[in-house]
Amino acid sequence: MDQVMSICCYCGCGCGLYLQVEQGRVVGVMPSHNHPVSQGNLCVKGWHLHEFIHDPRRLTQPLIRRNGTLLPASWDEALDFTAQSLLAIKEQYGPDRIGVLASAKCTNEENYLLQKFTRAVLGTNNIDHCARL
Ligand code: SF4
Repeated sequence: MDQVMSICCYCGCGCGLYLQVEQGRVVGVMPSHNHPVSQGNLCVKGWHLHEFIHDPRRLTQPLIRRNGTLLPASWDEALDFTAQSLLAIKEQYGPDRIGVLASAKCTNEENYLLQKFTRAVLGTNNIDHCARL
């Protein structure tokens, strides 16, 4: 079994761990005792981090709802659809009818860009974050 150093992606703490890899599949995690943040500790989410990686229910491509059914779409289609929908909502109802939820799974830089996009491009301060544990 191989061990690959990584960081838990479930929240902004960024605890250190080793992914346990067997025959190309992540089968478990172990905490990193040398990590300066977590020092050998993981919460229950971190201990189960590996379970989503190969889960068949994991989304691996964009989906667009058409006539009530979610259908696979390319990234270009999904981004065009999202941009057009946000623009239509903004024009018809105003920017404050849009809200954006950022994610602790993103980096600080990605979350910074998202709030900048929300405020400067969409024109609303309606942005929140799920990092409060
Ligand atoms: S979810 Fe738990 S293990 Fe993962 S980074 Fe946050 S505190 Fe650490």
